[in-house]
Amino acid sequence: MSGDDSTRDGEREKVLVSACLLGKRCKYDGGDNADGVLRRELESRGFEAVPFCPEEEGGLGTPRPPAWLTASAEEVLDGAGAVVTDAGRDVTAEFRAGADKALELCARAGLKRAFLKERSPSCGCASTHVDGELVDGPGMTAALLRRNGVECEGIEGRRS
Ligand code: SF4
Repeated sequence: MSGDDSTRDGEREKVLVSACLLGKRCKYDGGDNADGVLRRELESRGFEAVPFCPEEEGGLGTPRPPAWLTASAEEVLDGAGAVVTDAGRDVTAEFRAGADKALELCARAGLKRAFLKERSPSCGCASTHVDGELVDGPGMTAALLRRNGVECEGIEGRRS
């Protein structure tokens, strides 16, 4: 992470954080991506984490089948692609609903930054999965947040 302008008039700046990075067992396989390094960095920079899982909030349960994009997230947001599970079920609507809810939360709570789990089809910032392969580019939620001015930083998920 970089920068340290985390306080506004003495109040901690709230930031959106992928819930799995904060230890919530919302990963597709029922696990988490708890990141103790991230927790300490957020704390030391004075950020208040607001946990959010777009896939659960979009209506998908946990555990759930793995899913990936069939085109770039930008293209899917514009209706030129889909999100499908490994069994071929179309879950585009659920992924879009989760991204929309993340954006609504940011707008409602005044969140300007997000720390999101790298490589996810929702939360990935620098890399995500298209057609089952890891590729450069964001997931659905990161793409929509960025499109609307929310600064998104990808986090790998570190155990220590
Ligand atoms: S990476 Fe994002 S969508 Fe996936 S479990 Fe974590 S918070 Fe939920």
